[in-house]
Amino acid sequence: DRLVEAAADGEDRAVEAALRPKDLGEFVGQERVREQLDLVLKAARARGATADHVLLSGAPGLGKTTLSMIIAAEMGAPIRITSGPAIQHAGDLAAILSSLTEGEVLFLDEIHRMSRPAEEMLYMAMEDFRVDVIVGKGPGATAIPLELPPFTLVGATTRAGLLPPPLRDRFGFTGHMEFYAPLELQRVIHRSARLLDVEMEEAGAAEIAGRSRGTPRIANRLLRRVRDYAQVKADGVVTQEIAAQALQVYEVDARGLDRLDRAVLGALLKLFGGGPVGLSTLAVAVGEERETVEEVAEPFLVREGLLARTPRGRVATPAAWAHLGLTPPGQGST
Ligand code: ADP
Repeated sequence: DRLVEAAADGEDRAVEAALRPKDLGEFVGQERVREQLDLVLKAARARGATADHVLLSGAPGLGKTTLSMIIAAEMGAPIRITSGPAIQHAGDLAAILSSLTEGEVLFLDEIHRMSRPAEEMLYMAMEDFRVDVIVGKGPGATAIPLELPPFTLVGATTRAGLLPPPLRDRFGFTGHMEFYAPLELQRVIHRSARLLDVEMEEAGAAEIAGRSRGTPRIANRLLRRVRDYAQVKADGVVTQEIAAQALQVYEVDARGLDRLDRAVLGALLKLFGGGPVGLSTLAVAVGEERETVEEVAEPFLVREGLLARTPRGRVATPAAWAHLGLTPPGQGST
């Protein structure tokens, strides 16, 4: 239930459908992926063919699901959405594949979390548009070949490197999604504000963008909380001041750090002089589990250049001292 969590929560899922760009032109940023994908789709359309399989890699909330829907829309095709964890048996996958219609887009989120037998079935389906359905058990089991209509698989993963090479190689196109620049997030926020009927000043959008961790999903979530604040505490207009006040109430600071992030950084600086300190010690100092510090707080702190993981332990960077307004030991003016 962190406001700066990149994975979708229930409320996100309920409102995101309304905020999704519908075509490539509306999709903000990711210039390279957009341009390459545009070529892939135009070429397929010109040939009257089904588009090549597409692999999208990148952190949660960067627009992979949205892009898969855009691919379907641009191809004038229906889309089926599922995920790796939902496909535990090869039979689950066979059921989905055998019900696809010609040209349909199959979006497989978290494709790296599919079971091994399902993965192997997918190889053949992607390459030959065919699966072997196993009927019966034991020595009497028989494989019945089943022809599939041509379809486009859009796979999504947090890291393309997590995929076994035989699977990776079967994609005709791989797009790497990057974190968004503040100005791009500002455009995302403006667009969402318009769709949600929120009156937004440019500086208000910039203020939210700076706190959104490079992630459109977080930007849209912060926008909703700022909108609430603007309605209750002011006249509904989101100015820079209102946005900053609102996000201070929700404890998301100017760089997008929340209470947990600041607690970890604060302990590292104030209790351990900036480190190096071991992960377990740091976790005890903030009263959190090791895993929480390592997997929830640290990745963003590392990405922001505030914390470094070294062989001797966690170390704060000069930027960390500056961000918390503290002076590193030995550099005091008195
Ligand atoms: P992912 O599948 O990578 O987790 P989603 O496609 O679900 O991310 O996107 C999360 C939210 O962010 C959606 O509401 C979507 O509208 C918005 N979003 C993502 N990328 C963009 C973009 N490039 N332009 C505008 N909105 C975006």
